[in-house]
Amino acid sequence: MRDIYTRAQHIVTKIDEDTDVFGGAVIPPTFENTIYRYPDFDTVVETNKGAISRYSYGKNRNPTTDALESKLAALEKGEASRCFASGTAAIYTTLLSILNQDSHVITINNVYGRVSDFLRNVFAKFGVESTFVPGDQLEDFSNAIQANTKLIYLESPTSWHFELQDIRTIMELAKKHNLKVVMDNTWATPIFQNPLEYGVDAVIHSASKYLGGHSDLVAGVVVASREFIANLPQIGAVLSPYESNKLLKGLRTLPLRMERHENNANIIADYLDKEHKISVVHYPGLHSFRQYELAVQQMKGCSGLMSFELESDKEGVKRFINSLRHISIGGSWGGFESVIYAAAMSGEDKELESRGFGITQVRLSVGLEDSTTLLEDIHGALQSV
Ligand SMILES: *Cc1c(COP(=O)(O)O)cnc(C)c1O
Repeated sequence: MRDIYTRAQHIVTKIDEDTDVFGGAVIPPTFENTIYRYPDFDTVVETNKGAISRYSYGKNRNPTTDALESKLAALEKGEASRCFASGTAAIYTTLLSILNQDSHVITINNVYGRVSDFLRNVFAKFGVESTFVPGDQLEDFSNAIQANTKLIYLESPTSWHFELQDIRTIMELAKKHNLKVVMDNTWATPIFQNPLEYGVDAVIHSASKYLGGHSDLVAGVVVASREFIANLPQIGAVLSPYESNKLLKGLRTLPLRMERHENNANIIADYLDKEHKISVVHYPGLHSFRQYELAVQQMKGCSGLMSFELESDKEGVKRFINSLRHISIGGSWGGFESVIYAAAMSGEDKELESRGFGITQVRLSVGLEDSTTLLEDIHGALQSV
């Protein structure tokens, strides 16, 4: 096993010491409690002052979620973390925490859709300005800095085109101008990339993807310094303790799953790269990928999400997708099962092109199946193109 897997596997399988309280239960119980009772008057006063740490109300803290948060912080090499009811809630709360009236944000053109939606339609109402840049050149960021710039919001790689941003040089720039940097690390997971090591202020994950990994929960997390996490506003989008327990279960196999996702994805990407019916494969793990050098430099591996363009037209894409027998059509990714989605399913040609998509571009989330099953399925469906 490579070192990255060994360290992570230790974190996710370590049984918390305080389980003796629960008869030695090897997994934390799911605490459903809304309220926790106090023994006397003074304990309440001391708790309110912060002099004693006690559970008080389910919206504030929950023991099951606490167990999850300490594992997520350790995996991402941060001091602390906070879980949310979705990745989107984690993003929204982080923006709310950093931005003031009239702040300016620099982010990338192909950032997760809800980020641009929040910036353009919600925060803009409060005078927050934003600049969207391609993000593959340092100049994109340095040229966009204004006197009121507060935040650089990154997502590397992005989830359709897999554009990377050079974290190290962007951090040097940000330090010089005293800017906060937040990064969405959903694609790489804490197994393959740890942005906090570069000095990034906060890392965000949609745990609905690889962290959960079983297509059975929606969750999000922010990992950062203790101070940053303590200062996040409480918007009430807390993760349910049931979901916390499911996420803990998913995490126990995260290193194992990521190793398999990466192996499978490499096999599939190599096959697609050589296949004449495919014009281009977008996958940071491929030598032919335009930012391969940077990918090797700042990531320790690659997950299982890629996209490729068929040497065909929209009808060809339709025939290809409808001919797949094992791989399902699905809009999300990061689960145990392989799913595919076509760009053409969510926009007209002109609109897709203006957003930088290929008309025949499809996105494949490579799951945990036997790679031969997947290769045979893709090969078979390509015959119909
Ligand atoms: C899915 C996703 C999110 C949002 O996560 P939800 O849990 O669906 O709210 C954020 N960032 C990226 C890169 C995603 O793929």
